[in-house]
Amino acid sequence: MTHGSRKRISFSPTEPFRFCPADGTKLSEPRPSGGVTCPLCDRSWYRGSAPAVGAVIVEDGKALVTIRAREPEKGRLDLPGGFLEVGEHPADGLVREVKEELGVEAEVVGDSVLQATHTYGEGGDWVLAIGFRVKILGGEIRPADDVAGVRWVSVGEIDDLDFAWAHDRALVRAALERENS
Ligand SMILES: [Zn+2]
Repeated sequence: MTHGSRKRISFSPTEPFRFCPADGTKLSEPRPSGGVTCPLCDRSWYRGSAPAVGAVIVEDGKALVTIRAREPEKGRLDLPGGFLEVGEHPADGLVREVKEELGVEAEVVGDSVLQATHTYGEGGDWVLAIGFRVKILGGEIRPADDVAGVRWVSVGEIDDLDFAWAHDRALVRAALERENS
């Protein structure tokens, strides 16, 4: 089995569409706004960041962080959360992700404590990250396969932790400071 003849073409969801997603017509160079109009069906197509949500769970003054079991950023620290499904409300998506990753029922507490944009993975895809404080309602934490383990961290440890994404450090800090104020 050989992969040698495969040509790797860079593509991420934030690059302009090259073909109309509706009818496959080849598209020309995008306008400065990033939009491009299909000459066949006259639809205009735009790219945007993919929305993702992250949870800070605080108990007894410490925040829960997860250890990534998979690439990208395997072995580094992360927070429970993930990409939203199409049409999904951020709070619903976060409750779903916490259930999937930790096996517990949870609810979002208050408004978003952090918004950030960052890139993800090899392709450098842009992500719009929305962070919330989350409370566990019941159940025992049982990490899923994509989580190698969990740690409870205090505000004094935050600077020394190996977070995969810088905004997660900021989110943990914001949530712990809000909790202690
Ligand atoms: Zn079209």
